[in-house]
Amino acid sequence: MTEDTSRMPYQLPFPKDAQEEIVIPNAMSEDEKLWVPQAENVWFRPLCLNRSQGYWMNLLKVKKAGVLSRHRHPQPVHGFVLKGRWHYLEHDWVAEEGGYVYEPPGETHTLVVPDDVEEMVTYFQVNGVMCYVDPWGEVTGYEDVFTKIDLCRKHFAEVGLGEDYVEQFIR
Ligand code: FE
Repeated sequence: MTEDTSRMPYQLPFPKDAQEEIVIPNAMSEDEKLWVPQAENVWFRPLCLNRSQGYWMNLLKVKKAGVLSRHRHPQPVHGFVLKGRWHYLEHDWVAEEGGYVYEPPGETHTLVVPDDVEEMVTYFQVNGVMCYVDPWGEVTGYEDVFTKIDLCRKHFAEVGLGEDYVEQFIR
């Protein structure tokens, strides 16, 4: 009879150049130190800041009256709504708690939270760069994984966690 190996862990070492995994318990924690301010009533919590591939995974939190300024995505975005509800000024659909959103390259949009929602939290994967634009597409600024890392360093230093606190999220 052959041995049942269905519950036997993989027996070999991982590739020696493989990166370490990231495990974040209680990623939805309300601890304000962990949420990096991004604009008025807008915060993000870094989960994976992937500088080697140029993308970032984060939880975006927007409170009522908060706006994520108009921006263009040259690369795709994936989002999963964990709490609340929001929509884009440029689309007539609404992203609701438990819902998934795919934003194709070429999207330009402005994220707002309706008045009857206290706050929303959405898990976003953003690739490459997001370009802030005026209503006619003129670029006024940008964010990429490196500006995100810089914002985190500044915030974590200010709240006393130390700027190196961000290192655990960088791959
Ligand atoms: Fe976006």
